[in-house]
Amino acid sequence: MSILIKNGYVITVDPQRRMIKDGAVAIEDDRIVAVGKTQDVEKKYGKAEKVIDAKNHAIIPGLINTHTHFFQVLLRSLGDDLKLFDWWPGMVGPAAVHLENEDVYWSALTGSMELLKSGCTCTMDNYYPHPKWGLTDECLKAFTKIGIRAIEAVGGTDKDVPYFPPPRALLKNTDDIVKEVVRLIREWNGKGDGRVNVWFGCGAPFANSDELLEKEYDNAKKYGVGMCSHLHETMDEVNQWKKEYNGLTPIQYYYKKGIRFLGSNFVGIHCVWMDGEDLKIMAETNSKVSHNPVSNMYLASGTCPVPKMLDMGITVSLGVDGPASNNGQDMFELMKSTALLQKVSTCNPTSITAEKVLELATIDGARALLMDNKIGSIEVGKKADITLVNLKAANIAPVNRVVSQLVYCAKASNVDTVIVNGKIIVEKGQLKTMKEGLIIDKVQDAADKLVTRAGIEKLREKKWTSKVD
Ligand SMILES: [Zn+2]
Repeated sequence: MSILIKNGYVITVDPQRRMIKDGAVAIEDDRIVAVGKTQDVEKKYGKAEKVIDAKNHAIIPGLINTHTHFFQVLLRSLGDDLKLFDWWPGMVGPAAVHLENEDVYWSALTGSMELLKSGCTCTMDNYYPHPKWGLTDECLKAFTKIGIRAIEAVGGTDKDVPYFPPPRALLKNTDDIVKEVVRLIREWNGKGDGRVNVWFGCGAPFANSDELLEKEYDNAKKYGVGMCSHLHETMDEVNQWKKEYNGLTPIQYYYKKGIRFLGSNFVGIHCVWMDGEDLKIMAETNSKVSHNPVSNMYLASGTCPVPKMLDMGITVSLGVDGPASNNGQDMFELMKSTALLQKVSTCNPTSITAEKVLELATIDGARALLMDNKIGSIEVGKKADITLVNLKAANIAPVNRVVSQLVYCAKASNVDTVIVNGKIIVEKGQLKTMKEGLIIDKVQDAADKLVTRAGIEKLREKKWTSKVD
């Protein structure tokens, strides 16, 4: 299908960072074929099958989220106001033991829908709880159906440490984890017109053996995919590691021991507690970072040193993280939080700009996901992943500086149209590929049943707590 989007304010995020007033973008099938002034683009593409008048709208590259755990949609708010090391072993882990196919399917659809409606066209989901094998296929089915571009980064837990004990049902054999991810790669990569792919998604240093990391690394190379892992998320876990390994942090340990893990196809998630040497190693190995500011604030994990990373040439991208530690999947809230957190933590309002934040959420996200030749900017030849944001709204008007207003004023509710791979997935703020009401009813039903199966109804009935003793 051919689409012409015209009369909008195009923010290309191309290498010249062109911004085009009265701009237009032409799409044929899954590709962008023209970008420029409306009067120029219209001459050749005025007869497109679908013409979208984007007057009063910003036309931006689809936003890119590099980290979440969709199954946590089911657990939203059940573990609020806890520390990571109480929150996961005390709530997320025990509930994840009871996951069934429908839970994984409807939660992936709900999370994807929320992301899409906040302007996100591409996400990486990190799936690791396998009370039984085969649950991850439900996420991939969901992505194929709803129309989002997605990487499913799949891992598993093969290590048991006393300070982060996994439920027995989630503890897996090293080779079985690798076998399952390889199966998923073979069955799913390139499905959904090329939108869906599988990567290796390790859990964290304290949840994965060195043997597993190396086997995942070798297979990632073999199948031409990337990998990700939570890394240096909390001060406690880094200190614990230093105690066990002669003062080395996890990053220093892997690097100095020569363990095959870090590298240009690796995304480190969080990277909050980083010393100068950790940062140097990340830069030297060309490892990428997924910064998750809302989750880091929610769990009081700390602040990722984004400006230092950027100064050192490290690619930083943005992640909403799971809906049980955010608790939403909203890209606009994520962008604003990114800016505010850096400013307040450095006491420096110039520590990051609105333009850089938009880069983190678009082209830098694409680079982290090894897709910057395909997505992340509005350029001829790239995949047509585009978001239209309505600027004629009480929370944005009057229009003065569009990029700043996208980062500091806009909300998901201002997203009008979302196009993925040349297909309109959200129109006038509504999902077009599936019934929104059906997804919400189904996920409610799944959550009700999961809470009962897991025996955690009491978490829903938590009494009013004005102060924690
Ligand atoms: Zn995570």
